[in-house]
Amino acid sequence: MHTEIDTEKENQAIVTAYRNLLKACKGTLEKGDKKLIREAFNLSLDAHKHMRRKSGEPYILHPLAVAQICAEEIGLGTTSIVCALLHDTVEDTHITLDVVRLNFGDRVAVIIDGLTKIGGVFDQQDKSMQAENFKKMLLTLSDDVRVILIKLADRLHNMRTLDSMSAKSQLKIASETLYVYAPLAHRLGLYAIKTELEDLATKYLEAENYNFVKEKLQETKSQRNKYIKQFIEPLQENLLEQGLKFEIKGRPKSIHSILNKMKKQNIPFDEVYDLFAIRVIIDSEIENEKSDCWKVYSIVTDFYKPNPDRLRDWVSTPKGNGYESLHTTVMGPKGKWVEVQIRTKRMDEIAEKGYAAHWKYKDKEAQPSDGGLEEWLSKVREILENPESNALDFLDDFKLNLFSDEIFVFTPKGDLRKLPFNATILDFAFDIHSELGGKCIGGKVNNKLVPLNHQLSNGDQVEILTSTKQTPKEDWLHFVVTAKAKAKIRDYQKQEKMRSSQMGKEILERKFKQDKITFNSENLLPLLHYFKLPTVSELYFQIATEKIDKTKLNIAEIIEYTKARKQEESQQQAHKKEHKVSGNFAKDAVIIGDDIDLPYSFAKCCSPIPGDDIFGFVTVGEGVKIHRTNCTNAISLMSNYGYRIIKAKWANSSLDKSQAFITNIKVSGIDSVGIVSTIADIISKQLQINMHAISVSSKEGMFEGSIELEVYDTNQLEELMNKIKASSALIKVYREDMPSAT
Ligand code: MN
Repeated sequence: MHTEIDTEKENQAIVTAYRNLLKACKGTLEKGDKKLIREAFNLSLDAHKHMRRKSGEPYILHPLAVAQICAEEIGLGTTSIVCALLHDTVEDTHITLDVVRLNFGDRVAVIIDGLTKIGGVFDQQDKSMQAENFKKMLLTLSDDVRVILIKLADRLHNMRTLDSMSAKSQLKIASETLYVYAPLAHRLGLYAIKTELEDLATKYLEAENYNFVKEKLQETKSQRNKYIKQFIEPLQENLLEQGLKFEIKGRPKSIHSILNKMKKQNIPFDEVYDLFAIRVIIDSEIENEKSDCWKVYSIVTDFYKPNPDRLRDWVSTPKGNGYESLHTTVMGPKGKWVEVQIRTKRMDEIAEKGYAAHWKYKDKEAQPSDGGLEEWLSKVREILENPESNALDFLDDFKLNLFSDEIFVFTPKGDLRKLPFNATILDFAFDIHSELGGKCIGGKVNNKLVPLNHQLSNGDQVEILTSTKQTPKEDWLHFVVTAKAKAKIRDYQKQEKMRSSQMGKEILERKFKQDKITFNSENLLPLLHYFKLPTVSELYFQIATEKIDKTKLNIAEIIEYTKARKQEESQQQAHKKEHKVSGNFAKDAVIIGDDIDLPYSFAKCCSPIPGDDIFGFVTVGEGVKIHRTNCTNAISLMSNYGYRIIKAKWANSSLDKSQAFITNIKVSGIDSVGIVSTIADIISKQLQINMHAISVSSKEGMFEGSIELEVYDTNQLEELMNKIKASSALIKVYREDMPSAT
């Protein structure tokens, strides 16, 4: 196909984009700024002049769009706009960092350098390299937060234009967005961007679920608007009477968060009660903000009864990311719970644009000095600078801490400390000082004695009790939640282990000598197998700590025994292999890449069947595993091992109902007599579907079961699920990933 490139039209689009950018930053422009932006634009335009995006557009439209997001949606100033315009030049064109420095100065060069370095972070070939790079990325964050803010704008534009990428890239980029970028946006308080990133990622990772919720929201829109109108009418009158200037909005929550609720609580769409939130935004002088917010709160609760457990006051103590707002959940008309968010215009802007908007109200030139973020950054730095900390552990803990909500507690002297939700006495102790954490034996909360694992609540006053004899214990890892506490406990364990390992090695060496067996790896390996231990140092450790009793250790016997077992095992495995081939399920059902003959098997975690969206994952030693794209494991697989993902689709032959596939469904509900036989009857008698296994557990009047069965495709499975659903109002049925959608 031949398409004429309309140069005139393209130039027009570039000029329009540039004008829009200038419009967006008009308010913040100072003398000389316009010239700087022009120069950056010209340099970028020239550098990218022969390049096009995957969509076919001139490349320059991408940096222009990123700059637009920085100005309009994050509220960043001229330096960031210049950097956004240049963000891909050093990586992708002939422009060097020196050229950038010469033209735009050191600060811009530092930011561009940061952006270039984290450019390909997650394309790394191996997970620990990725984690190392993630650490590096966070270090650039402590150099200049704008690096990450611009990176987020870059990612947002790439997500908005993801349609033109290949299906494989879409999955990889979308899962990486959900895994790393959305949590980062959350932590930086960029709620609007975080929400959009999550929704866009969901659109590509779970297209079907995404569209389902989207349509449902559309269908229920007029009904919802009517309800919202009815809810706010009496409030409006009263707020006016009080002389308050305000705006009330009722907005649906994001598709991603609605889907998450459906999955977590295992409920269909119609049962998600907080599909929307009411937001009251008041125009208030800064000195009256607090009292005005509470004024609104009292009016709202005059009309609707609040749920006292659901009051969140982030006006008196803002969240660490700068978020300020007053949240309450009240009983609205028709007995529905409704969440109401109360905040001022200033607070609303911070909530939407995040941390960067915060600066606007403070000294412009000053380096960011917001309490919350600075505090968090210094914690990040502290953990990063600990040479002992393992990058992978760090990444996991860190991600946990990115998303967690906060509580506020007080020291005995009345100082305020912010800790993540579910933090314990021990987290508090480590937060104050690692020395204090290591020696902690318990504490007093509001003057009452409590154990180490006691979970703190908002407003607690906490005192730590210590003993010089105390040392950090491994089982502490089960209840601490902060990255800092975890890192410190692990460090101590590691050092401790090294010391004891050395001791254990000496003990074992002596034992070998006594038994006249050579102390070498050939003779050590059988011991590892026998005790099922991963490493030799673990073996030494267990001997030193007397988990393995050296007096009862008969080395010669173990060596003999292990040899015999090994032979037996390899015979069994040969047998198993034969068995597998004769099982003949779903051969040639899937085409991987463009290759019909690649060996594959279906992943147990999500057991895909024809009709499901699928992808292939290249495993070590087990060929290609086929997963569903909305498998709960898929996101971490795709973002951590993107290079091992390959495209997979169902072969036509698998759609003609000639082969059966094994999959799983879950059932749950209220326990009643004969429920299992009802379900079994539908499956095997009415629909004549082969059932492989059924397991049901019952607890406090509720039952939960899992059924393994053989079906041809999603249509047949759906028919089955609908039948079961229709049989009793007391039963819920769903596949692993998603509660029944209807
Ligand atoms: Mn870019």
